[in-house]
Amino acid sequence: MLRLTDLKLPLEHTDEALHSAIVLRLGIAASDLLSFNVYKRSYDARKRGHILLIYSLDVNVSNEAAVLLRLANDVHIGPSPDTTYQFVTDAPSEDFLRPIVIGFGPCGLFAALILAQMGLKPIVLERGKAVRERTKDTWGLWRKRVLEPESNVQFGEGGAGTFSDGKLYSQIKDPQHHGRKVLTEFVKAGAPAEILYVSKPHIGTFKLVTMIEQMRQNIIDLGGEVRFNQRVKDLHIENDQVRGVTLASGEQIRSDHVVLAIGHSARDTFKMLHARGVYVEAKPFSIGFRAEHPQSMIDACRFGPQAGHPILGAADYKLVHHAKNGRSVYSFCMCPGGTVVASSSEPEMVVTNGMSQYSRNERNANSAIVVGITPEDYPGGPLAGIDFQRQWESQAYLLGGSNYDAPAQLIGDFIAQRPSSALGSVEPSYKPGVKLGELDASLPEYAIAAIREALPAFNKQIRGYAMNDAILTGVETRTSSPIRIKRGADMQSINTKGLYPAGEGAGYAGGILSAGVDGIKIAEAVALSLKAAAAR
Ligand code: FAD
Repeated sequence: MLRLTDLKLPLEHTDEALHSAIVLRLGIAASDLLSFNVYKRSYDARKRGHILLIYSLDVNVSNEAAVLLRLANDVHIGPSPDTTYQFVTDAPSEDFLRPIVIGFGPCGLFAALILAQMGLKPIVLERGKAVRERTKDTWGLWRKRVLEPESNVQFGEGGAGTFSDGKLYSQIKDPQHHGRKVLTEFVKAGAPAEILYVSKPHIGTFKLVTMIEQMRQNIIDLGGEVRFNQRVKDLHIENDQVRGVTLASGEQIRSDHVVLAIGHSARDTFKMLHARGVYVEAKPFSIGFRAEHPQSMIDACRFGPQAGHPILGAADYKLVHHAKNGRSVYSFCMCPGGTVVASSSEPEMVVTNGMSQYSRNERNANSAIVVGITPEDYPGGPLAGIDFQRQWESQAYLLGGSNYDAPAQLIGDFIAQRPSSALGSVEPSYKPGVKLGELDASLPEYAIAAIREALPAFNKQIRGYAMNDAILTGVETRTSSPIRIKRGADMQSINTKGLYPAGEGAGYAGGILSAGVDGIKIAEAVALSLKAAAAR
C-alpha cells in the first residue's frame, strides 16, 4: 500500500474524478489502480467561491515497488505507515496488585481500556454516577437550577467531554499514532466511521453517551472493574511510593500503581494531593466569555455560496488577537450549531462551556473568547489558580441573580460600554437562563479591556462578528487545569513513585483526543512497570 497526500479536487466532484486524479498523479495505467481508501479528507476554504477538498489516500497499485522507486523524490508519495496499535507488553504470569485508575473521563477510560486489553484488570474509581443517571443530574441544573456536586457536566462517567461538541482533533505530536487507536476504539463503540478520515471529526453529545457505555462494558468483559460514586479522598504514600487509596466511604484499596486522571475540576483532590506532599505547581490557563452568533452568518462568511454543503457542515472558526495591554485573546472550543451550557461543579458558582449534537443544527454558533493568564496574575502558591477561578465563578453567580442564571451582555453594548436591557435577534441558548446587564465586573479589568479590543478586530476576519445583537455569556474559567502535577520521563509523579498524573487535570492534555492519547501512554508506562516489578 502506498500513501498519496495533498491530492486536491473541487468540492463537487465525482468518484470517477477522484479515481482519474490518482491515476494521473501516480502516472499509472487506470488498470494498475487496484483499490484505494481515503485516509484523511480536509478542505481549503480560503477562496470562498472555489473550495477544494484535500485528500490523503492509501492506494493499492500493481507493481508498487516500481511506482515508489519512480516517484522517490515526490514528498507526497511514499509507503503507507503502519498505524495499527501494538501493545507494549502483556500481563505478568505471576499474581500482581491490580492498577487503580482514578477518574473515568477520556483519559481514565483509555488508560483502563488499554490496561484491560493487556490483561491487567484495572480497578476504575469514578466519583460521579454512570452516564445515564448523570445525564438526569446534569439536566437538573439546566432545567431546574439544582446542582448535584458529585454528578454534573464535570463529574461522572465519560468525564468533562460527555456533554460536549465531541470534537476529536488535537495539535499534539503523535508519532506512534495513538490518536488513531483512540478513534478506532470510538468507531468500534459506535462512532460514525467518518471520524477516521475527516480532518475535524466530531461526534456530539448523544452518540458519546452510548459509546462510553459500550467501552465500559469492554473493560468489564476483559476483567476490569468500573465503580461509580467512589470518590477517592486520600492516597497512601509510604517512603515516597504510593501504596493505595482511601475512598470517601472509608474503604481502602491497595495498589502500587495509581493513575490520577481526575480532570481539571477536582479541586478537593488537588488540595489533598498538595497536602500529602505530591509535587504540584501553578500553571497558566485562560478566562473569558462564551460568544454566540447566528450560525448562518458564520457559514456565509466562511463558505460563501457553498454554505450549507453537506461535506462542509456547519462552519467553525479560529480567531486570535494580541491586545495592546500585552494579553492574547483567542477563540477556544468553538461549537458550530450548538448551545452554551452551565458547567459548574460547585454550588453558587456559574461557569460556561459549549456543546452540540452530531447534526450541529442549532441556530447559534458558540465559542469561548478567552484571555491567557499566568500564575503572575494569581500569586499565592500552587493552588492559587483555584481560588482565582472560584472568585470569578462566584461573582458570575451573583451577577446572574444568584439562581444559576448567567450574566450576559450584547456584544454591541459590551463594546460601547453600556448595559444591555433587551435581547435582539440572537436568542441566547444558555439554560437555565441569562440575566442581561453589564459584564465589566465579571472578570479582571485587563481581561475586559483585551476582549473589548479583540471583538472589533475579529470583525475584520469574520464580518458581523462584532454585530450588536450577538451575545456574550459569562464566565468561562475552566479552559484547562490551573495546576500541573508534574511527572518525569517514566510518567510517574516526580516525587511520588507509582502515582501516574494523567490527562487534563494533571496538565498533560487539553481535549478529548489528547486526554485519550495520554491515557494510552500512561497505561503503557504502568504495564511496563508492573511487568518489571513482577520479574524482580
Ligand atoms: P475529565 O474528562 O475531566 O475526567 C475526570 C474524571 O475524574 C471525572 O469524571 C471526575 O468525576 C473524576 N474524578 C475527579 N476527582 C475524582 C476523585 N477524587 N475520585 C474519583 N473520581 C474523580 N474537548 C474536546 O476535545 N472537544 C470538545 O468538543 C469538548 N467540549 C467540551 C464541552 C464541555 C461542556 C466541557 C466541560 C469540556 C469539553 N471539552 C472538549 C474538554 C474535554 O472534555 C476535556 O479536555 C477532557 O474531558 C479531559 O479528559 P480527562 O479524562 O483528563 O478529565
